[in-house]
Amino acid sequence: MNRSFAAAAVLLALPAAAAPPGTPNPEIAAIVADISAARIEATIRKLVSFGTRNSLSDTESGTRGIGAARRWIKAELERCARDSGGRLEVAFDDHLVEKAARIPKPTHIVNVVATLPGSQPESANRIYVISGHYDSMPSNPSDGEKDAPGANDDASGSAVSMELACVMSKHRFDATLVFMTVAGEEQGLFGSTGWAKAAREKNLDIAGMLDNDIVGNTKSAEGAVDRSRVRLFAEGVPARAALPDNVVAALRTSGENDVPTRQLARFIHEQAQRYVRDFAVQVIWRRDRYLRGGDHFPFLEQGYPAVRFTEPVEDWHHQHQDVRVEDGVQFGDLPQFVDFGYVANVARVNAAALAALALGPSAPQEVEMENLRLENDTTLRWKANPEPDVAGYRIVWRDTTASDWQQSKDVGNVTRFTLAGISKDNYNFGVQAYDRDGNVSMASYPRPYRPPVTAPAK
Ligand SMILES: [Zn+2]
Repeated sequence: MNRSFAAAAVLLALPAAAAPPGTPNPEIAAIVADISAARIEATIRKLVSFGTRNSLSDTESGTRGIGAARRWIKAELERCARDSGGRLEVAFDDHLVEKAARIPKPTHIVNVVATLPGSQPESANRIYVISGHYDSMPSNPSDGEKDAPGANDDASGSAVSMELACVMSKHRFDATLVFMTVAGEEQGLFGSTGWAKAAREKNLDIAGMLDNDIVGNTKSAEGAVDRSRVRLFAEGVPARAALPDNVVAALRTSGENDVPTRQLARFIHEQAQRYVRDFAVQVIWRRDRYLRGGDHFPFLEQGYPAVRFTEPVEDWHHQHQDVRVEDGVQFGDLPQFVDFGYVANVARVNAAALAALALGPSAPQEVEMENLRLENDTTLRWKANPEPDVAGYRIVWRDTTASDWQQSKDVGNVTRFTLAGISKDNYNFGVQAYDRDGNVSMASYPRPYRPPVTAPAK
Protein backbone atom coordinates (compact mmCIF):
# COMPACT_ATOMS: atom_id res chain seq x y z
CA MET A 1 0.00 0.00 0.00
CA ASN A 2 1.63 3.26 -1.02
CA ARG A 3 1.48 6.20 1.33
CA SER A 4 -0.96 8.35 -0.61
CA PHE A 5 -3.36 5.41 -0.92
CA ALA A 6 -3.10 4.82 2.83
CA ALA A 7 -3.81 8.49 3.50
CA ALA A 8 -6.87 8.38 1.24
CA ALA A 9 -8.15 5.26 3.02
CA VAL A 10 -7.83 7.02 6.37
CA LEU A 11 -9.72 10.05 5.00
CA LEU A 12 -12.53 7.85 3.71
CA ALA A 13 -12.90 6.17 7.08
CA LEU A 14 -13.44 9.47 8.88
CA PRO A 15 -16.91 11.05 9.06
CA ALA A 16 -17.27 13.99 6.66
CA ALA A 17 -16.10 17.18 8.32
CA ALA A 18 -18.81 19.75 8.96
CA ALA A 19 -18.88 22.44 6.28
CA PRO A 20 -18.20 25.95 7.60
CA PRO A 21 -21.41 28.00 7.78
CA GLY A 22 -22.19 29.86 4.57
CA THR A 23 -20.12 27.52 2.36
CA PRO A 24 -21.78 27.30 -1.08
CA ASN A 25 -23.80 24.08 -1.13
CA PRO A 26 -23.10 21.93 -4.24
CA GLU A 27 -26.63 20.53 -4.17
CA ILE A 28 -28.08 24.05 -4.49
CA ALA A 29 -25.66 24.82 -7.33
CA ALA A 30 -26.82 21.62 -9.09
CA ILE A 31 -30.50 22.59 -8.72
CA VAL A 32 -29.80 26.06 -10.13
CA ALA A 33 -27.86 24.54 -13.05
CA ASP A 34 -30.79 22.24 -13.86
CA ILE A 35 -33.26 25.10 -14.56
CA SER A 36 -34.06 25.11 -18.27
CA ALA A 37 -35.05 28.17 -20.33
CA ALA A 38 -36.26 25.82 -23.11
CA ARG A 39 -38.65 23.99 -20.76
CA ILE A 40 -39.91 27.30 -19.37
CA GLU A 41 -40.54 28.56 -22.93
CA ALA A 42 -42.43 25.36 -23.81
CA THR A 43 -44.60 25.74 -20.67
CA ILE A 44 -45.43 29.38 -21.42
CA ARG A 45 -46.29 28.62 -25.07
CA LYS A 46 -48.49 25.69 -24.04
CA LEU A 47 -50.36 27.84 -21.49
CA VAL A 48 -50.91 30.50 -24.20
CA SER A 49 -52.29 27.80 -26.53
CA PHE A 50 -55.46 27.49 -24.41
CA GLY A 51 -56.61 30.80 -25.95
CA THR A 52 -57.89 32.21 -22.68
CA ARG A 53 -57.33 31.15 -19.08
CA ASN A 54 -59.76 33.67 -17.68
CA SER A 55 -61.33 32.36 -14.46
CA LEU A 56 -64.79 32.83 -16.05
CA SER A 57 -63.87 30.98 -19.26
CA ASP A 58 -64.99 27.53 -20.46
CA THR A 59 -64.12 24.63 -18.15
CA GLU A 60 -65.45 21.75 -20.32
CA SER A 61 -63.38 22.04 -23.51
CA GLY A 62 -60.27 19.91 -23.81
CA THR A 63 -58.38 22.60 -25.73
CA ARG A 64 -59.66 26.07 -24.76
CA GLY A 65 -60.26 27.83 -21.45
CA ILE A 66 -59.18 27.59 -17.85
CA GLY A 67 -60.46 24.04 -17.30
CA ALA A 68 -58.24 22.60 -20.03
CA ALA A 69 -55.32 24.70 -18.77
CA ARG A 70 -55.52 23.47 -15.18
CA ARG A 71 -55.96 19.84 -16.22
CA TRP A 72 -52.81 20.18 -18.34
CA ILE A 73 -50.86 21.81 -15.46
CA LYS A 74 -51.94 19.00 -13.11
CA ALA A 75 -50.97 16.31 -15.64
CA GLU A 76 -47.54 17.91 -16.15
CA LEU A 77 -46.90 18.06 -12.40
CA GLU A 78 -48.05 14.44 -12.05
CA ARG A 79 -45.52 13.46 -14.71
CA CYS A 80 -42.82 15.15 -12.60
CA ALA A 81 -44.24 13.44 -9.49
CA ARG A 82 -43.60 10.06 -11.12
CA ASP A 83 -39.99 11.14 -11.78
CA SER A 84 -39.71 12.09 -8.09
CA GLY A 85 -40.55 8.56 -7.01
CA GLY A 86 -44.05 9.66 -6.08
CA ARG A 87 -42.92 12.08 -3.34
CA LEU A 88 -44.43 15.15 -5.04
CA GLU A 89 -48.17 15.22 -4.19
CA VAL A 90 -50.37 16.99 -6.77
CA ALA A 91 -53.95 18.10 -6.15
CA PHE A 92 -56.62 20.60 -7.15
CA ASP A 93 -57.59 23.08 -4.41
CA ASP A 94 -61.13 24.24 -5.22
CA HIS A 95 -62.82 27.35 -3.78
CA LEU A 96 -66.38 28.24 -4.77
CA VAL A 97 -66.81 32.02 -4.99
CA GLU A 98 -70.51 32.94 -5.00
CA LYS A 99 -70.40 36.48 -6.40
CA ALA A 100 -68.00 39.41 -6.36
CA ALA A 101 -67.39 42.64 -8.27
CA ARG A 102 -65.55 40.76 -11.03
CA ILE A 103 -67.38 37.41 -10.61
CA PRO A 104 -70.96 37.70 -11.96
CA LYS A 105 -72.03 34.11 -11.14
CA PRO A 106 -70.90 31.38 -8.71
CA THR A 107 -67.52 30.19 -9.97
CA HIS A 108 -65.10 27.48 -8.93
CA ILE A 109 -61.66 29.04 -8.47
CA VAL A 110 -59.27 26.10 -8.67
CA ASN A 111 -55.59 26.18 -7.67
CA VAL A 112 -53.16 23.44 -8.69
CA VAL A 113 -50.97 22.60 -5.70
CA ALA A 114 -47.88 20.36 -5.70
CA THR A 115 -46.46 19.54 -2.28
CA LEU A 116 -43.01 18.07 -1.63
CA PRO A 117 -43.08 16.92 2.02
CA GLY A 118 -40.01 17.66 4.10
CA SER A 119 -37.90 14.65 4.99
CA GLN A 120 -36.70 15.78 8.42
CA PRO A 121 -39.40 15.18 11.07
CA GLU A 122 -38.35 18.28 13.06
CA SER A 123 -38.71 20.44 9.91
CA ALA A 124 -41.55 18.85 7.93
CA ASN A 125 -44.15 21.21 9.44
CA ARG A 126 -42.12 24.23 8.28
CA ILE A 127 -43.47 25.19 4.85
CA TYR A 128 -42.22 27.41 2.04
CA VAL A 129 -44.62 28.37 -0.75
CA ILE A 130 -43.89 29.50 -4.31
CA SER A 131 -46.76 30.71 -6.45
CA GLY A 132 -47.67 32.11 -9.86
CA HIS A 133 -51.21 32.69 -11.18
CA TYR A 134 -52.26 30.74 -14.25
CA ASP A 135 -55.45 32.71 -14.91
CA SER A 136 -55.39 35.56 -17.44
CA MET A 137 -57.55 38.45 -18.63
CA PRO A 138 -58.21 40.50 -21.78
CA SER A 139 -59.03 44.23 -21.32
CA ASN A 140 -62.16 43.34 -19.35
CA PRO A 141 -61.35 41.06 -16.37
CA SER A 142 -64.83 39.51 -16.49
CA ASP A 143 -64.69 38.55 -20.17
CA GLY A 144 -64.26 34.79 -20.40
CA GLU A 145 -64.70 34.62 -24.19
CA LYS A 146 -62.04 36.82 -25.78
CA ASP A 147 -58.46 35.64 -26.28
CA ALA A 148 -56.29 36.36 -23.22
CA PRO A 149 -52.87 34.80 -23.90
CA GLY A 150 -51.38 35.95 -20.58
CA ALA A 151 -47.86 34.94 -21.64
CA ASN A 152 -46.17 37.28 -19.19
CA ASP A 153 -49.08 37.86 -16.77
CA ASP A 154 -48.75 35.28 -15.52
CA ALA A 155 -47.77 32.21 -17.55
CA SER A 156 -44.22 33.38 -16.75
CA GLY A 157 -44.71 33.04 -12.98
CA SER A 158 -46.68 29.80 -13.42
CA ALA A 159 -43.80 28.38 -15.48
CA VAL A 160 -41.36 29.31 -12.69
CA SER A 161 -43.48 27.42 -10.13
CA MET A 162 -43.83 24.37 -12.40
CA GLU A 163 -40.14 24.28 -13.38
CA LEU A 164 -39.11 24.38 -9.73
CA ALA A 165 -41.61 21.66 -8.80
CA CYS A 166 -40.10 19.36 -11.43
CA VAL A 167 -36.43 20.17 -10.81
CA MET A 168 -36.58 20.33 -7.00
CA SER A 169 -38.72 17.21 -6.49
CA LYS A 170 -35.70 15.16 -7.61
CA HIS A 171 -34.04 16.29 -4.35
CA ARG A 172 -34.82 15.91 -0.66
CA PHE A 173 -35.29 18.86 1.67
CA ASP A 174 -35.66 19.07 5.44
CA ALA A 175 -38.68 21.40 5.23
CA THR A 176 -41.81 21.12 3.07
CA LEU A 177 -42.11 22.93 -0.27
CA VAL A 178 -45.43 23.90 -1.88
CA PHE A 179 -45.41 24.79 -5.59
CA MET A 180 -48.65 26.51 -6.56
CA THR A 181 -50.31 27.86 -9.64
CA VAL A 182 -53.42 29.73 -8.55
CA ALA A 183 -56.55 31.10 -10.28
CA GLY A 184 -58.86 34.06 -9.72
CA GLU A 185 -55.97 36.52 -9.30
CA GLU A 186 -57.40 38.94 -11.85
CA GLN A 187 -60.83 38.76 -10.16
CA GLY A 188 -59.42 39.76 -6.75
CA LEU A 189 -56.77 37.27 -5.55
CA PHE A 190 -59.41 34.60 -4.84
CA GLY A 191 -57.28 31.48 -5.30
CA SER A 192 -54.40 32.64 -3.11
CA THR A 193 -56.82 34.06 -0.53
CA GLY A 194 -58.63 30.74 -0.24
CA TRP A 195 -55.39 28.82 0.25
CA ALA A 196 -53.81 31.34 2.68
CA LYS A 197 -56.97 31.54 4.84
CA ALA A 198 -57.20 27.76 5.04
CA ALA A 199 -53.50 27.65 5.99
CA ARG A 200 -54.11 30.10 8.85
CA GLU A 201 -57.20 28.16 10.02
CA LYS A 202 -55.00 25.05 10.23
CA ASN A 203 -52.29 27.25 11.79
CA LEU A 204 -49.72 26.01 9.26
CA ASP A 205 -46.19 27.31 9.74
CA ILE A 206 -45.69 29.16 6.43
CA ALA A 207 -42.14 30.39 6.99
CA GLY A 208 -41.96 32.17 3.63
CA MET A 209 -44.01 32.78 0.48
CA LEU A 210 -42.52 33.77 -2.89
CA ASP A 211 -44.93 35.20 -5.47
CA ASN A 212 -43.79 35.41 -9.10
CA ASP A 213 -46.08 37.63 -11.16
CA ILE A 214 -45.06 39.33 -14.44
CA VAL A 215 -41.47 38.06 -14.53
CA GLY A 216 -40.87 37.79 -18.30
CA ASN A 217 -40.62 41.16 -20.06
CA THR A 218 -37.29 42.98 -20.33
CA LYS A 219 -38.23 45.95 -22.56
CA SER A 220 -40.05 48.92 -21.06
CA ALA A 221 -42.94 50.79 -22.67
CA GLU A 222 -40.36 53.46 -23.57
CA GLY A 223 -37.99 50.95 -25.18
CA ALA A 224 -35.33 50.61 -22.47
CA VAL A 225 -33.99 47.06 -22.13
CA ASP A 226 -32.91 45.62 -18.76
CA ARG A 227 -32.14 41.92 -18.42
CA SER A 228 -29.77 42.34 -15.47
CA ARG A 229 -32.09 42.28 -12.46
CA VAL A 230 -35.43 41.34 -10.97
CA ARG A 231 -37.34 43.45 -8.48
CA LEU A 232 -38.28 41.91 -5.14
CA PHE A 233 -41.02 43.75 -3.25
CA ALA A 234 -40.97 43.31 0.52
CA GLU A 235 -43.34 44.98 2.95
CA GLY A 236 -42.16 46.26 6.31
CA VAL A 237 -44.63 47.15 9.05
CA PRO A 238 -48.13 46.41 7.74
CA ALA A 239 -50.34 49.48 7.24
CA ARG A 240 -52.92 48.58 9.87
CA ALA A 241 -54.36 50.54 12.77
CA ALA A 242 -53.82 47.59 15.12
CA LEU A 243 -50.44 45.89 14.87
CA PRO A 244 -49.52 42.40 16.04
CA ASP A 245 -47.62 42.32 19.37
CA ASN A 246 -44.41 41.02 17.81
CA VAL A 247 -44.33 43.95 15.37
CA VAL A 248 -44.93 46.48 18.15
CA ALA A 249 -42.13 44.87 20.18
CA ALA A 250 -39.75 45.19 17.20
CA LEU A 251 -40.75 48.83 16.66
CA ARG A 252 -39.77 49.73 20.23
CA THR A 253 -36.11 49.15 19.28
CA SER A 254 -36.44 50.26 15.63
CA GLY A 255 -36.72 46.78 14.18
CA GLU A 256 -39.10 47.99 11.46
CA ASN A 257 -36.72 46.69 8.79
CA ASP A 258 -36.23 43.39 10.60
CA VAL A 259 -39.76 41.99 10.44
CA PRO A 260 -39.86 38.47 8.93
CA THR A 261 -40.80 39.64 5.40
CA ARG A 262 -37.76 41.93 5.29
CA GLN A 263 -35.58 39.10 6.69
CA LEU A 264 -36.89 36.87 3.90
CA ALA A 265 -36.00 39.46 1.24
CA ARG A 266 -32.53 39.91 2.74
CA PHE A 267 -32.04 36.13 2.71
CA ILE A 268 -33.15 35.78 -0.94
CA HIS A 269 -30.86 38.64 -1.96
CA GLU A 270 -27.91 36.89 -0.31
CA GLN A 271 -28.63 33.49 -1.94
CA ALA A 272 -28.98 35.13 -5.36
CA GLN A 273 -25.56 36.74 -4.98
CA ARG A 274 -24.09 33.37 -4.02
CA TYR A 275 -25.67 31.13 -6.67
CA VAL A 276 -26.81 33.27 -9.63
CA ARG A 277 -23.90 35.32 -10.89
CA ASP A 278 -24.40 38.27 -13.25
CA PHE A 279 -28.01 38.65 -12.19
CA ALA A 280 -29.18 40.97 -9.44
CA VAL A 281 -32.09 40.98 -7.03
CA GLN A 282 -33.17 44.55 -6.39
CA VAL A 283 -34.92 44.51 -3.04
CA ILE A 284 -37.57 47.20 -2.78
CA TRP A 285 -38.90 47.96 0.68
CA ARG A 286 -42.51 48.34 -0.44
CA ARG A 287 -45.52 46.02 -0.52
CA ASP A 288 -45.91 46.27 -4.32
CA ARG A 289 -45.85 48.79 -7.16
CA TYR A 290 -48.30 51.71 -7.02
CA LEU A 291 -51.81 50.73 -8.20
CA ARG A 292 -50.90 47.03 -8.25
CA GLY A 293 -51.27 44.00 -6.02
CA GLY A 294 -50.64 40.28 -6.07
CA ASP A 295 -50.98 36.87 -4.49
CA HIS A 296 -48.52 37.71 -1.70
CA PHE A 297 -51.14 40.10 -0.21
CA PRO A 298 -53.41 37.39 1.29
CA PHE A 299 -50.36 35.75 2.89
CA LEU A 300 -49.26 39.07 4.40
CA GLU A 301 -52.80 39.60 5.65
CA GLN A 302 -52.67 36.24 7.42
CA GLY A 303 -49.41 37.31 9.10
CA TYR A 304 -47.07 35.20 6.96
CA PRO A 305 -43.80 36.55 5.49
CA ALA A 306 -44.41 37.02 1.75
CA VAL A 307 -42.61 38.79 -1.12
CA ARG A 308 -43.21 39.47 -4.81
CA PHE A 309 -40.86 39.14 -7.78
CA THR A 310 -41.54 41.32 -10.84
CA GLU A 311 -39.51 42.23 -13.93
CA PRO A 312 -37.42 45.46 -13.76
CA VAL A 313 -39.26 47.46 -16.42
CA GLU A 314 -42.85 46.98 -17.59
CA ASP A 315 -44.73 47.51 -20.85
CA TRP A 316 -48.46 47.94 -20.32
CA HIS A 317 -49.23 47.42 -24.03
CA HIS A 318 -48.81 43.75 -23.11
CA GLN A 319 -50.68 43.50 -19.82
CA HIS A 320 -54.46 43.28 -19.39
CA GLN A 321 -55.01 44.23 -23.06
CA ASP A 322 -57.15 42.72 -25.84
CA VAL A 323 -54.95 41.34 -28.60
CA ARG A 324 -55.13 43.96 -31.38
CA VAL A 325 -53.10 46.35 -33.53
CA GLU A 326 -53.83 50.05 -33.06
CA ASP A 327 -51.96 52.75 -35.02
CA GLY A 328 -49.34 50.17 -35.90
CA VAL A 329 -48.82 49.17 -32.24
CA GLN A 330 -49.32 45.53 -31.23
CA PHE A 331 -51.30 45.18 -27.99
CA GLY A 332 -51.77 41.96 -26.04
CA ASP A 333 -49.83 39.68 -23.70
CA LEU A 334 -48.20 37.58 -26.44
CA PRO A 335 -45.25 35.17 -26.15
CA GLN A 336 -43.10 37.20 -28.58
CA PHE A 337 -42.78 39.80 -25.81
CA VAL A 338 -41.45 37.31 -23.25
CA ASP A 339 -37.69 36.92 -22.73
CA PHE A 340 -37.46 33.22 -21.86
CA GLY A 341 -33.80 33.33 -20.86
CA TYR A 342 -34.66 36.08 -18.43
CA VAL A 343 -37.53 34.07 -16.90
CA ALA A 344 -35.03 31.23 -16.37
CA ASN A 345 -32.78 33.58 -14.37
CA VAL A 346 -35.73 34.56 -12.20
CA ALA A 347 -36.44 30.85 -11.69
CA ARG A 348 -32.77 30.30 -10.69
CA VAL A 349 -33.01 32.99 -7.99
CA ASN A 350 -36.21 31.42 -6.65
CA ALA A 351 -34.64 27.94 -6.72
CA ALA A 352 -31.49 29.02 -4.86
CA ALA A 353 -33.52 30.79 -2.17
CA LEU A 354 -36.10 28.03 -1.72
CA ALA A 355 -33.47 25.29 -1.62
CA ALA A 356 -31.37 27.20 0.93
CA LEU A 357 -34.46 27.82 3.08
CA ALA A 358 -35.69 24.22 2.95
CA LEU A 359 -32.29 22.54 3.37
CA GLY A 360 -31.38 24.81 6.26
CA PRO A 361 -32.63 25.12 9.83
CA SER A 362 -35.52 27.28 10.98
CA ALA A 363 -34.83 30.84 12.09
CA PRO A 364 -34.06 30.75 15.84
CA GLN A 365 -37.00 31.31 18.19
CA GLU A 366 -37.31 33.37 21.37
CA VAL A 367 -34.29 35.48 20.46
CA GLU A 368 -33.77 38.11 23.14
CA MET A 369 -31.44 41.03 23.76
CA GLU A 370 -30.43 41.16 27.41
CA ASN A 371 -31.37 44.55 28.72
CA LEU A 372 -30.23 44.44 32.34
CA ARG A 373 -27.97 47.45 32.85
CA LEU A 374 -26.23 50.30 31.04
CA GLU A 375 -23.23 48.79 29.26
CA ASN A 376 -21.12 48.84 26.10
CA ASP A 377 -21.53 45.09 25.42
CA THR A 378 -24.22 43.10 23.65
CA THR A 379 -25.61 39.87 25.08
CA LEU A 380 -28.09 37.80 23.10
CA ARG A 381 -29.93 34.65 24.15
CA TRP A 382 -32.23 32.30 22.25
CA LYS A 383 -33.96 28.96 22.41
CA ALA A 384 -32.04 25.96 21.04
CA ASN A 385 -33.25 24.96 17.56
CA PRO A 386 -35.17 21.65 17.30
CA GLU A 387 -33.31 20.23 14.26
CA PRO A 388 -30.82 17.42 15.10
CA ASP A 389 -28.28 18.61 12.48
CA VAL A 390 -27.90 22.14 13.87
CA ALA A 391 -24.20 22.77 14.46
CA GLY A 392 -24.31 26.28 15.90
CA TYR A 393 -25.46 29.87 15.71
CA ARG A 394 -24.30 33.02 13.97
CA ILE A 395 -24.85 36.53 15.26
CA VAL A 396 -25.13 39.10 12.47
CA TRP A 397 -25.29 42.88 12.71
CA ARG A 398 -25.32 46.04 10.64
CA ASP A 399 -25.50 49.78 11.04
CA THR A 400 -29.05 50.89 11.82
CA THR A 401 -29.08 52.73 8.48
CA ALA A 402 -27.77 49.77 6.42
CA SER A 403 -29.99 47.32 4.55
CA ASP A 404 -27.81 44.18 4.56
CA TRP A 405 -25.83 42.41 7.29
CA GLN A 406 -22.31 43.82 7.48
CA GLN A 407 -20.68 41.73 10.21
CA SER A 408 -21.09 38.28 11.66
CA LYS A 409 -19.69 36.02 14.33
CA ASP A 410 -20.12 32.25 14.52
CA VAL A 411 -20.51 31.53 18.21
CA GLY A 412 -20.84 27.72 18.20
CA ASN A 413 -23.55 25.56 19.67
CA VAL A 414 -24.57 27.79 22.59
CA THR A 415 -27.80 29.63 23.42
CA ARG A 416 -26.31 32.79 24.89
CA PHE A 417 -23.37 34.94 23.81
CA THR A 418 -21.79 38.27 24.68
CA LEU A 419 -20.16 40.44 22.01
CA ALA A 420 -17.72 42.36 24.19
CA GLY A 421 -17.12 45.98 23.27
CA ILE A 422 -19.90 46.06 20.67
CA SER A 423 -22.78 48.22 21.86
CA LYS A 424 -26.33 47.08 21.22
CA ASP A 425 -27.27 50.76 21.02
CA ASN A 426 -25.44 51.22 17.72
CA TYR A 427 -26.52 48.34 15.47
CA ASN A 428 -29.39 46.08 14.46
CA PHE A 429 -28.69 42.46 15.35
CA GLY A 430 -29.98 39.09 14.25
CA VAL A 431 -29.37 35.45 15.19
CA GLN A 432 -29.17 32.67 12.60
CA ALA A 433 -28.79 28.91 13.01
CA TYR A 434 -26.49 26.79 10.84
CA ASP A 435 -26.33 23.06 10.25
CA ARG A 436 -23.49 20.59 9.69
CA ASP A 437 -23.67 21.12 5.89
CA GLY A 438 -23.10 24.85 6.31
CA ASN A 439 -26.70 25.87 5.51
CA VAL A 440 -27.57 29.07 7.38
CA SER A 441 -31.12 30.05 8.37
CA MET A 442 -32.93 33.34 8.03
CA ALA A 443 -32.17 35.76 10.85
CA SER A 444 -34.43 36.50 13.83
CA TYR A 445 -34.59 39.94 15.39
CA PRO A 446 -34.27 40.03 19.21
CA ARG A 447 -36.90 41.39 21.50
CA PRO A 448 -35.63 43.09 24.66
CA TYR A 449 -35.25 40.82 27.68
CA ARG A 450 -35.65 42.21 31.19
CA PRO A 451 -35.83 39.90 34.19
CA PRO A 452 -39.25 39.64 35.84
CA VAL A 453 -39.58 42.04 38.76
CA THR A 454 -39.80 40.13 42.05
CA ALA A 455 -40.98 41.63 45.32
CA PRO A 456 -38.09 42.22 47.78
CA ALA A 457 -37.89 39.65 50.59
CA LYS A 458 -39.32 40.89 53.89
ZN1 LIG B 1 -50.62 39.11 -12.63
